[in-house]
Amino acid sequence: MSSTYVIAPPPQPALAVQGDSKTFPVRRIWCVGRNYLEHIRELGNDERQPPFFFAKHPDMIAPDGVTIPYPTLTKDMQHEVELVVALKSGGLNIPAAKALDHVWGYGVGVDLTRRDLQMASRKKEQPWEIGKSFDQSAPCGALAPAATIGHPAKGRIWLSVNGTERQTGDLAQMIWSVPEIIAKLSQQVALDAGDVIMTGTPAGVAALTPGDKIECGVDGVGTLKLTIGKPA
Ligand code: MN
Repeated sequence: MSSTYVIAPPPQPALAVQGDSKTFPVRRIWCVGRNYLEHIRELGNDERQPPFFFAKHPDMIAPDGVTIPYPTLTKDMQHEVELVVALKSGGLNIPAAKALDHVWGYGVGVDLTRRDLQMASRKKEQPWEIGKSFDQSAPCGALAPAATIGHPAKGRIWLSVNGTERQTGDLAQMIWSVPEIIAKLSQQVALDAGDVIMTGTPAGVAALTPGDKIECGVDGVGTLKLTIGKPA
């Protein structure tokens, strides 16, 4: 058997699509930090500072219905429900007025966070990777095409744990709108088809424990369910 590669190439991570057997291949996952004022306040951060970006890896995606083992090293894993934007094209220095032309669709994701490790990194002025970037840290529901649902700029975003609502907000509360996020991020890196952006979380983040059942959604976009399993 001949191959271009010296080992078998890893599988292409992909997101499910509502009402379609085809999937959306993921190139990069970018996340926006501090994009809702009430969440900035609940974590005691400086509300005058602008949002910013960090990254997760494509293979950290997990599908709807997944059970995610409670991760290693942490005693404080928290949920952050977020609107997810999936790009069909990109470029450098995209003007906000043209940004939505690059969006293929939208979904609902959870930016799972080892908060204790994130906070410890912040105090030491170290990168956030250990707190944000871990196996299955980016569960995401099936995408809805913009061709079907349009480009949501408002709508309820919510998350419940074991039937009790923990997070609620509205997309209209985002400090940077989706076009602004795409414009800003495209100044930092060249965006391209397959890029996925998690757009920040509203207030109400809290700790999860093994056995917790999470349901979340963005009205008009979709929903996502996941369970936290026993420690890995
Ligand atoms: Mn987040």
